[in-house]
Amino acid sequence: MKSLPSYVQDRWQSPAGDGAQVYDAVTGEVLARASSSGVDMAAALLHARTVGGPALRSLTFHQRAALLADLAAYLRAHREELYAVSARTGATLYDSKFDIDGGIRVLRYYAELGVRELPGGDERTVYAEGPAASLSRDGSFLGGHVCTPLRGAAVQINAYNFPVWAPLEKLAPALLAGVPSLIKPATPTCHLTSRLIELIVESGLLPPGSLQYICGSAGDLLDHLTEQDLVSFTGSAATAGRLRTHPQVVRQAVRFNAEADSVNCSVLGPDGTPGTAEFDLYVEQLVTEMTVKAGQKCTAIRRAFVPVGLMDAVGEAVAARLAQVVVGNPADPAVHMGALAGRVQREEVRRCVKTLRDSARLLYGDPDRVDVRGADAEQGAFLSPLLLCCDDPGASAPHEVEAFGPVSTLIPYTTPEHVAFLASLGRGSLAGSVVTGDPGFAREVLLGLAPWHGRLLVLDTTAASASTGHGSPLPALIHGGPGRAGGGEEMGGIRGVVHHMQRTALQGSPRMLAALSGGTATED
Ligand code: NAP
Repeated sequence: MKSLPSYVQDRWQSPAGDGAQVYDAVTGEVLARASSSGVDMAAALLHARTVGGPALRSLTFHQRAALLADLAAYLRAHREELYAVSARTGATLYDSKFDIDGGIRVLRYYAELGVRELPGGDERTVYAEGPAASLSRDGSFLGGHVCTPLRGAAVQINAYNFPVWAPLEKLAPALLAGVPSLIKPATPTCHLTSRLIELIVESGLLPPGSLQYICGSAGDLLDHLTEQDLVSFTGSAATAGRLRTHPQVVRQAVRFNAEADSVNCSVLGPDGTPGTAEFDLYVEQLVTEMTVKAGQKCTAIRRAFVPVGLMDAVGEAVAARLAQVVVGNPADPAVHMGALAGRVQREEVRRCVKTLRDSARLLYGDPDRVDVRGADAEQGAFLSPLLLCCDDPGASAPHEVEAFGPVSTLIPYTTPEHVAFLASLGRGSLAGSVVTGDPGFAREVLLGLAPWHGRLLVLDTTAASASTGHGSPLPALIHGGPGRAGGGEEMGGIRGVVHHMQRTALQGSPRMLAALSGGTATED
């Protein structure tokens, strides 16, 4: 049985113990074991700070941007290998492209942003944020802000659903900022992240110490954090809560960014009656969000808000579309939806659906049975798409329970104020969408939704063909959300880079400020 190694202190290190089993999501077969036993977490963090940080900071922004571009090209050339491993996580080729090509696109985006928005030249390693303001009448005393890379490690803890995109979307802004990364994947799909890291190491592109990888449990990693380290976490709200209150995180005021779970919503406008383009867009988008990655997207639509008079029509149309979805072995090109990441995850979804059914009826699918093409439904982690309908919009479960699979609940609403109130019952979400051709309705609903959301999409016929969709986080836009969604922000263009830097207010004469932010800042 293969034991997956960690990559620490610039070498692969095999685990000292057995560790957790990692399964093929399609067959249920044990693929490998993952354990971080024997990894010296304190030494790994020290290596990042003392080797990786200085190596990255010795490069200019533009040199780091070039590294990202080269890495993107290298991974693109090897993506077929990643697709093959990805299929064993239950992902169809479409899902794999979402994860793998999506991650490569983030690298490319930050490579271009680095050249476009960050200073170039040999000594330009400081980012001056905005123009300096005059603090005196004669202009002899100015004030501004400069950003310099933190001197610690970016500890990046990821969820199981995006084993490639998630590490890459965290690595890209950290590397561009000049901060070394320490990547910890979620165990259920770590075999794919392991292959990604192998490829990155094989590329030989990254400077020593700039990337390390802990496969298996995080152990006592967080105990060794310092005030210059930062943590970027993606996963459940429960784990986020535990980690953000870790004594060392609290004591050292470690910068902690969380992307947690989210009961996202999509609103159909009253103008979206059957026969309109908006109606079709709404139905199609909901089916897409339920079935891509078998619904294991933190941004997927969990609550589908529909005008009360359109509930039956939407329910019938979505059910009819779901009936066309072929579930099965993702290696088969005729399959539209693959397996969940594992049987443990499927049991968790079934448990959530059971809770949802206390207040909602099932319109489509059976949580305990599904026709599967080219695989065994029980050995593999297969689950039918499940559409529920909750006639009581005030019931609590649909606003609270995140069934992390191909599951959505239709919920009726009456007015724009009503739907904005219902959306707020999710207590903070990553993504929301409004499908309407009526700008007045869109405005009313969006103003109500915005304080509760990190990202909002308005879908009408003009935007439809170019729209990237409800569930796709984009590197130019922030990814995160308030409250239950974790209260964090990732990416968002330059914001994601600056997040890895210390912003310092700087006061002095024009000559001195120019010396620091204008290219003569020196590294220690
Ligand atoms: P999880 O159980 O919370 O685990 C997330 C990560 O935290 C994993 O890497 C896990 O490692 C690690 N972890 C657990 N305990 C830890 C500890 N004490 N110290 C350090 N690391 C620890 O979540 P998951 O089951 O992987 O992912 C599903 C959840 O993530 C869903 O609720 C989904 O909504 C959410 N999610 C959110 C986003 C977003 O961007 N907001 C994206 C994707 C998923 P092990 O696997 O080794 O335990």
